[in-house]
Amino acid sequence: RELVSPDADGDERAVEAALRPRMLGEFIGQTRVREQLSLVLESARRRGKAPDHVLMSGAPGLGKTTLAMIIAAELAAPLRLTSGPALERAGDLAAILSTLAEGEVLFIDEIHRMARPAEEMLYLAMEDFRVDIVVGKGPGATAIPLEIAPFTLVGATTRAGLLPAPLRDRFGFVAHMDFYDAAELELVLFRSARLLGVALPEDAAREIARRSRGTPRIANRLLRRVRDFAEVRADGVLTADIAAAALNLYEVDGEGLDRLDRAVLGALLGKFGGGPVGLSTLAVAVGEEPETVEVVAEPFLVRQGLLARTPRGRVATAAAWIHLGLTPPPDAFG
Ligand code: ATP
Repeated sequence: RELVSPDADGDERAVEAALRPRMLGEFIGQTRVREQLSLVLESARRRGKAPDHVLMSGAPGLGKTTLAMIIAAELAAPLRLTSGPALERAGDLAAILSTLAEGEVLFIDEIHRMARPAEEMLYLAMEDFRVDIVVGKGPGATAIPLEIAPFTLVGATTRAGLLPAPLRDRFGFVAHMDFYDAAELELVLFRSARLLGVALPEDAAREIARRSRGTPRIANRLLRRVRDFAEVRADGVLTADIAAAALNLYEVDGEGLDRLDRAVLGALLGKFGGGPVGLSTLAVAVGEEPETVEVVAEPFLVRQGLLARTPRGRVATAAAWIHLGLTPPPDAFG
């Protein structure tokens, strides 16, 4: 099954969309989440009701948007997509909620970044399928209740901890998405290679999987870079050596650390002697926003055992020193 024509290939976003699994059965890994979710969906189907609201939390690129699309597809329900930052005013959300069809799935990405008034409106909508539209200002303002069609909210967040408890508690099911292991990423790669029409030997898949930061989106991206490299420099023949050479060229190291990851570790060791150092100080040292360091780089570094978050700040572990080719000091963490 060729989903991607060579033309569409020029557009990376189109390729990414074409690589998305469409149904739960095609979704690789996240076994527990998949099983939990399939129960939630099956029971809703049997009762003929919209399922409970679903919250998904996890690092970027682990498949939250994909799962939201799958939920709608499995329910044969329409899907509306929006994101927290797009919901600045309560009116933005009211406009969406009041036009939902019965059973529609509403996906709010980055739900932790929704503005307060919209959030409060959402509480009522989630619980009672109702919104209060406020007309007028000041003492004369009146709230007009408006019924909305029963819907299923699917929220995604990279930072579940930032979600206010009243919002978190209104989700009937919270899916914690974890990094993928190498074997799962290999399956993602074989599937994508098949859809892209790329011949991918097993050892090359292993090499790419190992360097994909436990993240399917990165695996798919690296596969495309490796394919480019093979086409231009190796007559289209993709081997493990070609994969390694391509990934070195794109500055992805043997453990999958990219430039930002290495910049964070480099600053932590070079400027702060391995820490502890506060998140914002560390972010300034690498010229990034604290949120980028915290959401994009840190979860993977922590999972690789290279960085630890302590009450006093971020600390490099002995493994981090070794990874950067340095000798850990005797009092190194871990
Ligand atoms: P973000 O939070 O940044 O939007 P995300 O977690 O929503 O990221 P997706 O956009 O759903 O991530 O997935 C990124 C890409 O990874 C998609 O193109 C999809 O093809 C692929 N992908 C994600 N999860 C899986 C999976 N379990 N099996 C196969 N492919 C996957």
